[in-house]
Amino acid sequence: MCGIVAYIGPRKAYPILIKGLQRLEYRGYDSAGIALLNGDLVMHKTKGKVSELEEYVQGKDIEGTIGIAHTRWATHGIPNQVNAHPHFSQTKSLAIIHNGIIENYSSLKEELIKRGYTFQSETDTEVLINLIEDIQLNEGVVLDEAVRIALNQVIGAYAIVILSADHPNTLICARKGSPLVIGIGQDDFFIASDATPIIEYTKNVVYLEDEEVAIVTRNEELKIKSIKNKEK
Ligand code: GLU
Repeated sequence: MCGIVAYIGPRKAYPILIKGLQRLEYRGYDSAGIALLNGDLVMHKTKGKVSELEEYVQGKDIEGTIGIAHTRWATHGIPNQVNAHPHFSQTKSLAIIHNGIIENYSSLKEELIKRGYTFQSETDTEVLINLIEDIQLNEGVVLDEAVRIALNQVIGAYAIVILSADHPNTLICARKGSPLVIGIGQDDFFIASDATPIIEYTKNVVYLEDEEVAIVTRNEELKIKSIKNKEK
């Protein structure tokens, strides 16, 4: 289980995300990646160090005030650029970062393949984001509800953050068996797998509990739900 950083607020997300990934380097990792939303949902990822990611994005689009970033410790699929996080859903309208393991990924994947999904990576994570997209499209539910329904079908451990091209003001995150912290700033939110990347910005932190989904929306109060659907 490796590093998660996400940001939403008035500032440029890229420098905050990169600094956050550097703060998490002590955990060890094999690849790094970032997704940012500024009209288009763009993704950049590399095998190797965060410094290699910084070199890789030179001259590329790194604009946006909302974004997600990850350092991966491979469990499903070799350490390479394709398997690095974030991962897109099939329509490329959703992007996910994930710490942990989806134990029943192979039966979920088989089902999705039958439904016409194709996969770019060997990861369990790409299965989860396509499951969420499939539920969203076929059950006609809002994104956080699709996430909640999908997580009820998942066996395993996860801390996830999802960025959606259709929701430029919201990040959805959830956890079970893998930590996730949300820092509440003056007018922004910082999300990370531990408090190290957050403490320089705010002391006001919420540790998400197991089986909770958080809806993190710009200029709104943090909303936390149980994946079992009991609103808090
Ligand atoms: N199971 C995921 C993968 O192999 C996440 C690994 C991690 O926690 O970094 O891509």
